[in-house]
Amino acid sequence: MTSFADDPCAKCEELLQPFLDRELNDAERVEAEAHLSLCSYCRKRYRFEEHLRRFVRQAVVEEMAPELKARLAALRTPLF
Ligand SMILES: [Zn+2]
Repeated sequence: MTSFADDPCAKCEELLQPFLDRELNDAERVEAEAHLSLCSYCRKRYRFEEHLRRFVRQAVVEEMAPELKARLAALRTPLF
């Protein structure tokens, strides 16, 4: 694992997914938040990831669901 002291942005990247999944412990979350508050590069990346997740979640729930279901149904090979 990278540490914040060695390479803060690399560390921040490591923590980004678990951060968005709310899987970080308190110490890690505080460190990630502190870094995000002073690093615009990581903040942009964080916002992008956050947007992406929201978009994917919405797309799955709203528009893409029937198409996705149809595609999955088409992929399903009958076993008998
Ligand atoms: Zn950074």
